[in-house]
Amino acid sequence: MLTKGIDVRASPTHNVGLFVTEPIPTGTVIWLPCTKCSRWSKEEVAALPAARFQALDTYGHLLTDGSLLLPCLGAYLMNHSCEANVLDLGLDFGLAVHDIAPGEEVTCDYATFVEDGGWSMECRCRSPRCRGSVTTEQGRDPDIKWAWHERIEAALLSAPSVDQPLHDVLTELSEPYRRILSGKTDLAQVSTGASVCAPAFVTR
Ligand SMILES: [Zn+2]
Ligand SMILES: [Zn+2]
Repeated sequence: MLTKGIDVRASPTHNVGLFVTEPIPTGTVIWLPCTKCSRWSKEEVAALPAARFQALDTYGHLLTDGSLLLPCLGAYLMNHSCEANVLDLGLDFGLAVHDIAPGEEVTCDYATFVEDGGWSMECRCRSPRCRGSVTTEQGRDPDIKWAWHERIEAALLSAPSVDQPLHDVLTELSEPYRRILSGKTDLAQVSTGASVCAPAFVTR
């Protein structure tokens, strides 16, 4: 499920991407894997024709049990940036780690999807800190994880006080979100190591 105020438009880095139409402050939850997202079981994944699997794996996420999740409401169109403004490490949703202004593209870091083992792509994100290529192995790199961790914890300070358009569904589905609302800002205390659509694509 994707938050409001986001449009699909042509992207300079990929064919299309998600662009903000109204300001999104730091600490806003941008998307979460929900019960309406499309899912394929491990058995269904194994039975997919190769081309169909490749297409779904490009936009979706392989989870720890071998199932595949395709985020709903266009959330699957979120592009990668090596300086992403949305991060999900240790959470079960994507959190804005910067203020995102109208016209800016919403991006996440594909290296956080560590369950999608062996996956890589050449990056064209144009960030001065571009890693050149993105691999899921980078999601296990302590320096990269620590940089994400610091940005997420800074954003968690704002999360309880900003408008959260996804509040109702998050309150119902997300234990990390409930912990944040109860005042926890330390990622180790917020993270459950599981996703709302367990098993997780997130890791601590
Ligand atoms: Zn969904
Ligand atoms: Zn890059």
